[in-house]
Amino acid sequence: MKMTRTLLISCLLVALLVGASSCGGASENAVEKENVYQVSTLGALSGGVMAGDTTCGTLEENGDFGIGTFNGLDGEMVVLNGIVYQVPVSGVPRVVKPGVKTPFAEVKFFEPEKNATAEDLASLDALKAFVDSLLPSRNFVFAVRLDGTFSHVKARSVPKQKPPYPTLDQVVAEQTVFELDGVTGTMVGFFYPDYLSGVNQAGYHFHFLTGDRKAGGHVLDCSVDNTLLKLDQAEGLELEFPDSPDFEGATLPAQP
Ligand code: ZN
Repeated sequence: MKMTRTLLISCLLVALLVGASSCGGASENAVEKENVYQVSTLGALSGGVMAGDTTCGTLEENGDFGIGTFNGLDGEMVVLNGIVYQVPVSGVPRVVKPGVKTPFAEVKFFEPEKNATAEDLASLDALKAFVDSLLPSRNFVFAVRLDGTFSHVKARSVPKQKPPYPTLDQVVAEQTVFELDGVTGTMVGFFYPDYLSGVNQAGYHFHFLTGDRKAGGHVLDCSVDNTLLKLDQAEGLELEFPDSPDFEGATLPAQP
């Protein structure tokens, strides 16, 4: 909040100085555009803080590419080309309204510095090893995007929960798995360094959306056929703490 207000004041000053009537467009986000914007922490979500106060509209203001979930753990979130999609437990994606809230998500304005052809990778582990070979360092957050054909994607979604919320592990035990064969689509993922374990999932985390937007979910495994991989190194991480009694009262231990 404080940052938004500071930014607004700066914008007004700039507008006054240059005689412009507004401060929109690229200049508004110039300082933070290379940062990842994250809502809450994985540790909090895992511990049952499954309702937040940040809207998908706010996510869209802070990035056009990302992953996450919705209040009550109501399915998997995929943010692609500035559109927030929800893959509910039915497995059929839908576009989300800006007012819908999230307890946990990360987004970035996707501006890749590196491209590579990723093909014939028989598993998610093989894909991770391939991206590893492209990372210039393991000490930054990276956004990773793959577009193309996949011989197989094993994706999942989870059913919406009601308070009192269970733990993430208890919800994942109820997951529905979708086996997608021979699909064209986009993999939306992030790499987080080991030292950010607990803040987010260390290593890779991918969500998937088919090109026709008829299927998707959190990626459990995959077989990459022929894709274009793009890598975007973040300059920083902006962490938004949930403004909720659940987060205030949660016991969030140090992560190993
Ligand atoms: Zn996920």
